[in-house]
Amino acid sequence: MGQPIRITVWNEFVHEKRDEEIRRVYPDGIHSVIADLFKDRDGYTVRTATLDEPAHGLTAEVLESTDVLFWWGHIAHDKVADEVVDAVVNRVLTGMGLVVLHSGHFSKPFKKLMGTTCNLKWREADDNERLWVVNPSHPIAKGIGQYIELDREEMYGEFFDIPTPDETVFISWFKGGEVFRSGCTFRRGLGKIFYFRPGHEAFPTYRNPEIQTVLLNAANWAAPEDMAPLAFGRVEPHQK
Ligand code: ZN
Repeated sequence: MGQPIRITVWNEFVHEKRDEEIRRVYPDGIHSVIADLFKDRDGYTVRTATLDEPAHGLTAEVLESTDVLFWWGHIAHDKVADEVVDAVVNRVLTGMGLVVLHSGHFSKPFKKLMGTTCNLKWREADDNERLWVVNPSHPIAKGIGQYIELDREEMYGEFFDIPTPDETVFISWFKGGEVFRSGCTFRRGLGKIFYFRPGHEAFPTYRNPEIQTVLLNAANWAAPEDMAPLAFGRVEPHQK
């Protein structure tokens, strides 16, 4: 086995401290449930980072030694400092993988990397959700059957204002009739980005074993491979 994949799980960690009902679902924060997936698992090292830490826990040193960054945010997107956003975006361009979760669609790093509003429709109404696998040979869908069923989730509906994804892995159907591109991949510079829709803070979605399989697959897929550094600028001809 090669070098372990170095995971950093970032969470704004606001709902869980503020709201008793959400604390009951994620007593130690959403980040700790996601981090637990990688803890004690061969082939990974994992740490967490949250908004309240200096540099939101994402210092240059942390980012430099991160292969895949998970990002969960919702009500505090505007509290994330622009310098940190720039550092995250630049690190993606040099090869760090980024897995953006649920309401992270409106996070500053995701919007900057997409270049669109990333807006969508939503409804907090306990709809059941069926995430259909529409790209069954994709590594992120490995081990998942035809679909993942979630009994209760927040609805996100199209149109989702993102650039056309490189690949669409999941399309969700909701009881109310909406559909949504729930698993989308993008490449920016050397970095691979996966957006994954489920994970509203009021539901225990990240404890679902199939959702956990997708998160593991996403880390494996987004991890940087051996890549030659990018070369730019004026060059001499290779042959005369
Ligand atoms: Zn939500």
